Amino acid sequence: MAEPRGRVLLADPRGYCAGVDRAVVAVERALEIHGAPVYVRKQIVHNKHVVATLERRGAVFVEETDEVPEGAVVVFSAHGVSPAVKAEAEQRSLRTIDATCPLVSKVHMEAKRFAKDDYDILLIGHRGHEEVEGTMGEAPANTQLVDGAEDIANVQVRDPEKVVWLSQTTLSVDETLATVDSLKTRFPGLQSPPSDDICYATQNRQQAVKQMAAECDLVLVVGSTNSSNSVRLVEVALEAGARDSHLVDFASEVDEAWLDGVGTVGVTSGASVPEILVSEVLDWLAARGYADVETVKAAEERLVFALPHELKPRREALA
Ligand code: SF4
Repeated sequence: MAEPRGRVLLADPRGYCAGVDRAVVAVERALEIHGAPVYVRKQIVHNKHVVATLERRGAVFVEETDEVPEGAVVVFSAHGVSPAVKAEAEQRSLRTIDATCPLVSKVHMEAKRFAKDDYDILLIGHRGHEEVEGTMGEAPANTQLVDGAEDIANVQVRDPEKVVWLSQTTLSVDETLATVDSLKTRFPGLQSPPSDDICYATQNRQQAVKQMAAECDLVLVVGSTNSSNSVRLVEVALEAGARDSHLVDFASEVDEAWLDGVGTVGVTSGASVPEILVSEVLDWLAARGYADVETVKAAEERLVFALPHELKPRREALA
């Protein structure tokens, strides 16, 4: 047993959200029903461990549907796809299972509705992120991406009274509000989405980190570098007063030197991270004198999404 060196504050909620859980179960269920291989367009969720585990079970991850053999089963990831990707899959007679998170689909619906009413849509998000590409694909002629100060300065709209902002689901809440404020100085008539686009899971994980960060010398965020919401948790921790913060995929990536002079370590994980990876980090810390773990609770989460309809038993099969 290591000599006690300090304590751990453990964020709650952390880890898997309802959309990620549904997407991972969708691939597992597709493998049970159809057998391997089941193709998955893009990483089903942005986590190395999850992707490697599903690969071992027979999932084959591809970048585009043209890599999938005609007639094969393909799952669309939780981040969503544009109508063009769906059309291409149909043309190639692929059997599709759409694991797009319902909260991403909600943003797609908003984009479609505002485009139908001929609004200019300012989509706040990260250039090149799969979710942003999918949402922009719903209304490419009406949508402009806003990713940083340069875009805020350069955006042009046809009618300043007919412009609305939407956003990626996994952004920093505070940064997005600041972007909206800047956009409003240019376009005072800018309208807001009917409800929050930044999803409940992103907001709750950021809130839990905010509650504990000021007490932390170090915040460890378990998550992959391509996971938008995980990267945001590091930024939120530092902005909310943590002295230091790092993103790690696995316990083996934690550097002993980060613990120098550290009394309190905060631990959290992104929405695509299974709890086993957090447990391994806690064990690693306990072995180095940080065995005292206190939970910091920011919200209760009970949301569960039904599986994609393609995986539900057919009525006749139940009879
Ligand atoms: Fe859905 Fe939010 Fe999870 Fe993304 S982070 S899959 S939008 S619940």
